[in-house]
Amino acid sequence: MWFYNQKKAFLARLTHNEDLLERIAAVFAENGSRMGVFFAIGAVQNAHIAYYEQRSRNYRELSIDEPAEILSCTGNVSLSAGKPFVHAHISLGMSDGSVKGGHLLEGTMIFACELYGVPLEGDFLERVYDDVTGLRLWGDQ
Ligand code: ZN
Repeated sequence: MWFYNQKKAFLARLTHNEDLLERIAAVFAENGSRMGVFFAIGAVQNAHIAYYEQRSRNYRELSIDEPAEILSCTGNVSLSAGKPFVHAHISLGMSDGSVKGGHLLEGTMIFACELYGVPLEGDFLERVYDDVTGLRLWGDQ
């Protein structure tokens, strides 16, 4: 477990027709923050998400080529290979009321989005490869 102090939280309106994952990373970078957590709601024009298959240890990617509501997008920013890395999951509301979701990938284009971000101050957490899961997880405590 790690403990952090929260810096001043921010709200940001993300720009139409930009990449959601890239834009979240950019907003944190513009605030000089390399660590943080966030929540976002809004809508996307399409989505590119992934599901991690635990047995094969591969991400199965899924493209959704239709508009959807961002019911919830939540995640964190920490370091991976020395650079800020955004880990985000997204729940998408479809036109028939069903929900799809997964790990947010680049290629998800914003229709409209409101981001609530909380930068954190303290030691940087670095992601390292974990043999048990095959994922890049936060290093040992
Ligand atoms: Zn994930």
